[in-house]
Amino acid sequence: MSTQKNTPRTTLIHSGRGEDKPVKPVNPPIMRASTVLFENHASWIDTRMRRSSERLLSYGARGTDTTFELENLVTELEGGYRAQLFPTGLAALTLVILNYARTGGHILIADCIYQPVKPFCDVYLRENDIQYDFIKPDGSDLEEKIRPNTQLLLCEIPGSLLYELADLPKLAGVAHAHNIPVAIDNTYGSSYCFTPLKFGADISIVAATKYLSGHSDVMLGMVICNEKEWANFSAIGSTFGMTASPDDASLVLRGIRTLDVRMQAHQESALAFAAWLLQRSEVATVYYPALESHPNHAIWKRDFSAANGLVTIEMKPEISMEETIRLVDGLQLFGIGASWGGYESLAVIINPQASRETIDWSGRGPFVRFHVGLEDVDDLINDAEAAFSKMAG
Ligand SMILES: *Cc1c(COP(=O)(O)O)cnc(C)c1O
Repeated sequence: MSTQKNTPRTTLIHSGRGEDKPVKPVNPPIMRASTVLFENHASWIDTRMRRSSERLLSYGARGTDTTFELENLVTELEGGYRAQLFPTGLAALTLVILNYARTGGHILIADCIYQPVKPFCDVYLRENDIQYDFIKPDGSDLEEKIRPNTQLLLCEIPGSLLYELADLPKLAGVAHAHNIPVAIDNTYGSSYCFTPLKFGADISIVAATKYLSGHSDVMLGMVICNEKEWANFSAIGSTFGMTASPDDASLVLRGIRTLDVRMQAHQESALAFAAWLLQRSEVATVYYPALESHPNHAIWKRDFSAANGLVTIEMKPEISMEETIRLVDGLQLFGIGASWGGYESLAVIINPQASRETIDWSGRGPFVRFHVGLEDVDDLINDAEAAFSKMAG
């Protein structure tokens, strides 16, 4: 890794490209491997002794040069010590929980966490006598929910669906005073808009499936740790036999080079789209952290370098679900589909009430989550305008 401190924009271009090799292709080659061959018995033993603490080629399951390059690059972006890839973002999240939650223990999770974490907790943690509680998305009830046996604080900043922002330095201060490690799902920030380790977190978790890949053609998760938590976390991948394919890592390495320009374009278009949505008479609230009207805008301004392409709207209570379905079905340029972070625009109807425990969202108008892609934003606005006009039926 280069010693010179570059801005993220330059790091994205110059790091994770085999800096130690004098002659090389621009992009790290895809190194596919299960078995790795050693010169003699001594080098075999030497590698096995050092491989838990050093980045060494030893067996395909523990990564190859291709996955190491991506891990090095995101480690540098996040200001971490080491990173590890996982097959999906959800696997990265559940493996972090499994690493810290032990029978008889307790963990705290922000209520605005990526929804599939909740069924995991419901089934796996309950069955293994691990208690858990949800804290409010802003973390205001953290102190009172900490127990003597609390083993982990897992938050998502901003939260899934509605982008609530917690004050991370404050939360981390409270958690660390009780010796509780802090993990943040940083998929929104994607190692670019936000770098939680620099704001007090110990672990950053990113679904590279989203913006790092940027092209909706690969699944990948990653966990980036500071030095202290790497010592506690690094064994879990090989213990569970978790690995990521070099082909998938290579796709993400290809996508990540344009992360800066893509994210700036997503933000610029999403801001314009959000501002347009604010003017619509059918819309009660527009959720987008870079808007001054967002309740946690001050935290976003302090801690984030950019916002992404996600914009959620809450319809006025008089707008029915049927009308909202007509709106989403009437869009031509926005696809209906899971995930986000690719180059394409998406729109899905969401239900915060179904995935929130600490705040009552019942009786509110229908919600639509947009992902503003890289199309011309004027075309997107025209498309939405036409769909809104057909909405009343
Ligand atoms: C999509 C997403 C995940 C899961 O990532 P996959 O790669 O789809 O498993 C985790 N956290 C957040 C916030 C996400 O949006």
